Amino acid sequence: MPEGPEIRRARDRLAAAIEGRTVQRVDLLLPALKSWNGKFDGCKVESIRSRGKAMLTRFSNGLSIYSHNQLYGRWLVTDAGQLPHTRRQLRLAIHCEHHSALLYSASDIEVWPTEQLDQHPFLQKLGPDVLEPSTSSALIRERLREKRFIGRSLGALLTDQSFVAGLGNYLRCEILHCAGQHPVRRPRDLPDDELKQLAQQILALPRQSYHSGGVTNDLQRAARLMDQAGSFEAARFHVFRRAGLPCYRCGTAIVQIRQGGQGCYLCPTCQPQY
Ligand SMILES: [Zn+2]
Repeated sequence: MPEGPEIRRARDRLAAAIEGRTVQRVDLLLPALKSWNGKFDGCKVESIRSRGKAMLTRFSNGLSIYSHNQLYGRWLVTDAGQLPHTRRQLRLAIHCEHHSALLYSASDIEVWPTEQLDQHPFLQKLGPDVLEPSTSSALIRERLREKRFIGRSLGALLTDQSFVAGLGNYLRCEILHCAGQHPVRRPRDLPDDELKQLAQQILALPRQSYHSGGVTNDLQRAARLMDQAGSFEAARFHVFRRAGLPCYRCGTAIVQIRQGGQGCYLCPTCQPQY
């Protein structure tokens, strides 16, 4: 499932291809949205932004398209009008002069007047975006101490988009590991120095992942592992999907537990429960 860094990289590809460009045609293919077809022809793509895991495409006709990739959605950029051979369902196509932006498989797509977009229920609930430069670790530390968050387990809290926006399961596992925290611990169990360390990792790892194309492991180690094994997937994480393999820090076998409905990977030595 794409998380904040993956959505933002998709945003960058879309923006490079169609931001500022004139729309030749927008195809909204979900039945509930068909009445909007034709309303975008000839206007400009003013901006494309990602917020958490949502994409906001703003047009010069005063309308915006909100889309959320959820589990299966996937954006592709092609030469104008070219549709790839795929069994996926095309749900949204923005055809511009040189390129087309195509969204496959997503079902959460809506058209909103741009001036009302900040009232969108999903966007209203979102906490600060971990990839926004204005989000500071001091702000995250304050939120960890707020009454509504301080008693929640860290494993559940980190993927709650109202706490911070943009984290999914791989980032949750990697952040907890790098901060030395077990997922059942709560912010109120952590002394100040551990809260500070956790807040720093909550921002550092998604930002590294965004800039490195998905690597949360130590970058030098990941480069070495890729040279040796040649597998990006085997090199990119500290603990995620590494159950049974040795922790890079202490050698203990990584385990997987169920937490918040998803598999959480951790090192039982580096991340003690108490
Ligand atoms: Zn360890």
